[in-house]
Amino acid sequence: MKHRKILLSENEIPEKWYNIIADMPNKPLPPLNPATLEPIGPEALAPLFPMELIKQEVTPEKWVTIPDEVRNIYSLWRPTPLYRAYGLEKALDTPAKIYYKYEGVSPSGSHKPNTAVAQAYYNKQEGVKTITTETGAGQWGSALAFACKHFKINCEVYMVKLSYEHKPYRKTMMNTWGAKVFPSPSDATQIGKKILAENPDTTGSLGIAISEAIERAASSDDIKYALGSVLNHVKLHQTVVGQEALKQMEKAGDLPDIVIAPFGGGSNFAGLAFPFLRLNLEEGRKIRCIASEPASCPKLTRGEFRYDFGDTGGMTPLLPMYTLGHNFVPAPIHAGGLRYHGAGVIVSQLLKDQLIEAIAHDNLEVFEAGVTFAQAEGIIPAPEATHGIATVIREAEKCKQEGVSKTILFNLCGHGNFDMKAYEDYFAGNIQKHELSEEEIKASLAKLNTPTI
Ligand SMILES: *Cc1c(COP(=O)(O)O)cnc(C)c1O
Repeated sequence: MKHRKILLSENEIPEKWYNIIADMPNKPLPPLNPATLEPIGPEALAPLFPMELIKQEVTPEKWVTIPDEVRNIYSLWRPTPLYRAYGLEKALDTPAKIYYKYEGVSPSGSHKPNTAVAQAYYNKQEGVKTITTETGAGQWGSALAFACKHFKINCEVYMVKLSYEHKPYRKTMMNTWGAKVFPSPSDATQIGKKILAENPDTTGSLGIAISEAIERAASSDDIKYALGSVLNHVKLHQTVVGQEALKQMEKAGDLPDIVIAPFGGGSNFAGLAFPFLRLNLEEGRKIRCIASEPASCPKLTRGEFRYDFGDTGGMTPLLPMYTLGHNFVPAPIHAGGLRYHGAGVIVSQLLKDQLIEAIAHDNLEVFEAGVTFAQAEGIIPAPEATHGIATVIREAEKCKQEGVSKTILFNLCGHGNFDMKAYEDYFAGNIQKHELSEEEIKASLAKLNTPTI
């Protein structure tokens, strides 16, 4: 029998998170105060986040100890399995060896609880009563709802209206873990009301939902805000994924030539790729790390590297990032988790320095890839995850054409069991090819009056 699964035991759950900033040749530029354009210190974030997470946001330490209580909750589903994708290799008739790390075994079905549990833990330590957040596809909201329930914290979720309508069961899942869920834009906040007045039919966006959740958190001392992607501490927490994967690849006697992950704000990409990039930075290895984004929201491949807001309402500090402009509202693609206008600061700097690569895939190509994968490997991937699979297929086909065998590892960051509407639309022929024109991108960026770099 071929061994498909490479497993670790519970005591091999990593004991530390890996902070890639310590190894980066060019450190990320500082966030700026939008009013003064001066660099802001960590204290500016204190109304929104607990102090320990703010410290993690700026720490120069290479390794950060994972609290025992967090590792203990991780053990509900971690270590996650690493699979050799024999079925996909055969379906593609490729000489490439393909592996995937499967994060869909978590309670909420994606990698998101890796940071949700850590964030809820530090909020609890500092006496926070309520956490607000946004959610796109519902993956982050459900992860945070699960984590908050564990620590007996109230959870309030602003869910992008498009997803709220597409994914009613994600909402019910959050309700099951005790969270309150609002379709965003909502009339529970000033910014929500303003946007609804201007554009009552809007499908919403992550940028808008973030503004709503931040407004609520800023309104009271015992309400804090949590973000499921983009920020440094979120990427830090996700590095348990890549550390486990590295160990598992070593067990399999293989090291990847190419590491691939889908890209929304960068957290699952960072989680898988950073522990492998560490080998590049420390030992001069040449592992290619590729971020896969939708052609409908191509900030990495077609955005501009400059300062921009993290949210549509302009309430966050200015961050140095690849962006399509904070007012950009992406087309209503099913990969809700990838509908974000910007890329996290660390990943942006790494791309700027050409230490990682990025690729964009059309909406039809990714569904084709998702179905190919489901039929070959059984697991139905989340629409976000299909973007990584599309890149895997391209690289595997290149191997076939060139007659070389490479080892490819990718992050199957979530299952698609709540995304049947997306697959249904695909089978009904209702998924359109969609690519932004150069004019649309220029027009969105032209609206920015934030500093260029
Ligand atoms: C949230 C999410 C993403 C996108 O966010 P990242 O921070 O880029 O990882 C991708 N896939 C799934 C399954 C998600 O839940």
